[in-house]
Amino acid sequence: MKINSLSREEALRALVSSENGLSEKEAARRLSESGFNEIREAHRTPLAIRFLKQFTHFLALLLWVGAGLAFLSDYLHPGEDMGTLGFAIIGVIVINAVFTYIQEYRAEKALEALKRLLPFSVRIVREGKERKVPSREVVPGDVMLLSEGDRIPADARLIEGAMLKVNNAPLTGESEASLRNALPAPGELLDSPNIVFAGTSVISGSGKALVFATGMGTEFGRIAHLTSAVEQDLSPLQKEIAKATRLVATIAALVGIFFFSLGFVIGRDFWGNFIFAVGITVALIPEGMLPTVTLSLAMASQRMAKRKALIKNLSSAETLGCVSVICTDKTGTLTQNRMTAEKIWRDGSILDAQGFMAPADDPLMQAALLCNNARFADNEYRGDPTETALLRLGRESLGDLSAERMFEIPFDSDRKRMTTVNRVGDAGIVFSKGAMESILPLCSRFLVNGVEYGMEETFRERALDAYGSLMDHGLRVLAFAYRKNPSDLLPPDPSSLEEDLVLAGLVGLEDPPRPEVPEAIGKCHEAGIKVIMITGDGSRTAVAIAREIGLVKGDPLVIEGPEFLEMDDRELREKLSVGEILFARMAPKHKMRVVSILQEEGEWVAVTGDGVNDAPALKKADIGISMGISGTDVAKEASDMILLDDNFATIVNAVEEGRAVYENIRKFITYIFASNIPEAVPYLAYILFRIPLPLTIMQILAVDLGTDMLPALALGTEKPTPAVMRQPPRSRNERLLNFSLLSRAYLFLGPIEAFACMSGFFYVMINGGWTWGMEAAPDHVLYLQATTACLTAIIIVQIGNVFACRSAKESVFRLGFFSNRFIFIGIGFELCLQLFIVYSPYGNRVFSTYPLSPAMWLVLLPFAFLLLFSEEARKYLLLRR
Ligand code: ATP
Repeated sequence: MKINSLSREEALRALVSSENGLSEKEAARRLSESGFNEIREAHRTPLAIRFLKQFTHFLALLLWVGAGLAFLSDYLHPGEDMGTLGFAIIGVIVINAVFTYIQEYRAEKALEALKRLLPFSVRIVREGKERKVPSREVVPGDVMLLSEGDRIPADARLIEGAMLKVNNAPLTGESEASLRNALPAPGELLDSPNIVFAGTSVISGSGKALVFATGMGTEFGRIAHLTSAVEQDLSPLQKEIAKATRLVATIAALVGIFFFSLGFVIGRDFWGNFIFAVGITVALIPEGMLPTVTLSLAMASQRMAKRKALIKNLSSAETLGCVSVICTDKTGTLTQNRMTAEKIWRDGSILDAQGFMAPADDPLMQAALLCNNARFADNEYRGDPTETALLRLGRESLGDLSAERMFEIPFDSDRKRMTTVNRVGDAGIVFSKGAMESILPLCSRFLVNGVEYGMEETFRERALDAYGSLMDHGLRVLAFAYRKNPSDLLPPDPSSLEEDLVLAGLVGLEDPPRPEVPEAIGKCHEAGIKVIMITGDGSRTAVAIAREIGLVKGDPLVIEGPEFLEMDDRELREKLSVGEILFARMAPKHKMRVVSILQEEGEWVAVTGDGVNDAPALKKADIGISMGISGTDVAKEASDMILLDDNFATIVNAVEEGRAVYENIRKFITYIFASNIPEAVPYLAYILFRIPLPLTIMQILAVDLGTDMLPALALGTEKPTPAVMRQPPRSRNERLLNFSLLSRAYLFLGPIEAFACMSGFFYVMINGGWTWGMEAAPDHVLYLQATTACLTAIIIVQIGNVFACRSAKESVFRLGFFSNRFIFIGIGFELCLQLFIVYSPYGNRVFSTYPLSPAMWLVLLPFAFLLLFSEEARKYLLLRR
């Protein structure tokens, strides 16, 4: 029999479980038997194939052509050593493939590790007690408690359900929410209204469900098995790099062809010309750039996770760096969400909540206790912080009160109130609590010293004054009302329930700001990021808190929910462009419109949210941010980033990391591009001035694929400097390879390096007796030493360059010369490799080098300082300007 057609008792029996859930011991046994409740991704392309793919992309194909040409010419014209060149180019392809593969693999592992941090958990009943467990630990037989916004982690049969609606779209594609119930139903599982499926989510209502399938056994697991997992799209930055690499490679090939033709026209020897063309092409191709960028982004996302911001894909790591507006909730994000009752307004005066004692039949405290879903159990308050604060106040001033609840209209952020009907003694009482704007219009009477009076204008004004003055203290104020009316008891009519109420009083709750927030707001202001508070609380509370945290200084423009609804887009756009603005009494569903208009104005918008109704805004925003602790699963799924600590300051930290990673990518690109010039200039000199070739192709490859690698990666690990958050957000249109980067690399740093390497070459040649116009035999010791000096000069200036590239604007001495230890590891690696190339017989053979005297290193060393200090001077002048 299928589980959907069983009665609830039969279903529980079939899974050897009970209303009280499993025992911990049994659950552990089942977990070891059925495994974790996870969808194993149908493995993407097998690893071997992915490795082989590294040999067939555009750059690799270009290099294959080069190698083929080299072998062909070796065959047609033996004795020019073209065969070695062919093998060397194949070596480049292999090294490049291995390097790329390792980087991609590491990046992927880093992202997988992040996925495991996703805070998805579920409430279950075990041994009769409710507890929260990570979704992956759910086993068949567990009894889950579901409520609005939960992601359902396993296939389960409902055993209780109150107006439970689920969104089955991920499974069936149907976007209508469908109502579930707990009654037995025959037919197929998928069509059965008493079954909830893994991968779907609860839109509204609540329920209890018995898990019968987990992990790959669920319907979702079965589908996941059939379709291969979706490959992750490249982020815009990765795409830009891929495009730039292709462009540079094409230009490199064209430059090669151009100089080959030029040499041909001016009558150079064909083979010399050919070596030149291949050499310059290989020198200019930026082989390892894309994988290095990918790895940098992955490492940045790991750093963000360490700072409690979990991003779900690499694109977000870079988008974060462009954020220009953050729309943030107040409660729990800017504040601690630790509410305590501070003030009470009743009988016309404001009292301290602490120590307040109420008579047993006091409707205000009765409402606080009964119109409330928080619980006090095991010496602990549980539930929504607003409600736990009220429950505590009620218990402390009145004591415990047991009263049967007959009916409830739950709180929702649109109506901003909650209503219950309770039986207190023999009487039925309707209690309502919520925002003043939502409660006061329902009241036709008010209560003073135990006597109910008809609502008068003077009293209404006094109530509103008290409300305003409580809000001015930054308190969240709730109004309480009631009506004694036994006729409403059974069955209540919801539409007539909330009318003719008696206003009993107000309670002001304090929710202190998070201590890190003022500094984070200050950072945003410095960084040119606008912060807009969008809160469900009243406007004066919002302004008071905004002042306290430094979000506003003057008198901000406050737009309230009802006013917002009446505004047209043009008006809203105008208002949004003013300096200080905040939104109060807003419902989550209105956030999306604010986001859209900001985006139309060209802003990059980050928005926070925690509930089901926040999901559309989270999806629409450039960066949707959900709360790891208080957020619903639906919000977490709709978001790009999850704050593991719900803290606003964490958003700012993530933005800082996002900006830093972009800067870092620029740093290593500048570093790599700069060294292309000293690689290209020797070839130009060779062809234009007819001198012996100062640098061989193998030596170029030693730099590009050997010595440059680790220092470049080390630049990718630079920590964000304070300066990163002192500049305005990057514009949407800004290109990574912009004029300032290219000109610095190609027109400033590169030429200094070229000067160094050519000086090294000529120094050896001229001291050895060479004069202009003399030919040099390829195996002549003097010539070998001169090319070795040229190569060593590049290695040495690149040491100066790696320090120069640590910042485009700031002096490296201000950054702290020793503050990035990876730079020193990179330089150590670079030097060891160079010593091997220069002093080992093997290195000499492969790279056509010859041991240099130590004195030669001393001659070349000043070039590193020349580069570094020229760069320091440039930065100094830049700063002064
Ligand atoms: P923010 O948007 O700043 O995070 P929020 O999302 O907590 O705030 P809501 O939960 O929508 O805001 O609350 C808006 C208003 O609804 C509150 O100011 C309060 O008056 C009222 N309210 C909040 N919680 C309850 C509740 N449990 N019962 C009745 N009214 C409530």
